[in-house]
Amino acid sequence: MSEASILVVDDEPDVRRMLQVILDKNGYGVQGVSSGLEALVAVNEREPDLILLDIMMEGMDGWEVLKLLKMEERTRDIPVVILSARVEPRDKIRGLQEGAVDYITKPFSVKGVLNSIDLILNPTVS
Ligand SMILES: [Mg+2]
Repeated sequence: MSEASILVVDDEPDVRRMLQVILDKNGYGVQGVSSGLEALVAVNEREPDLILLDIMMEGMDGWEVLKLLKMEERTRDIPVVILSARVEPRDKIRGLQEGAVDYITKPFSVKGVLNSIDLILNPTVS
């Protein structure tokens, strides 16, 4: 089985780098981009197995990216995990309603992010 690929979308270089290091160390293929537009370009070039998506970004924000991904037949099924500093319950509800599989608030725990990814990519067969 080849390694799962994860696209990290976050406008904060430190967050991006940290996630890239952690995910790489845990055996995932990682690509990091800093804007919504770059995210759409990256997805168009190669569909990742999962997307970690920031919400608050200049220009196209995470909400818009999520909406566009869910509108497209080809990208609709790529699981999206939102990683956001927005901690309001209504934001979490909105994220899940708009198709995200999980909503993790910043500051996040490394373990929490890895658990979420693992649950999504390796669901237990019952
Ligand atoms: Mg941001």
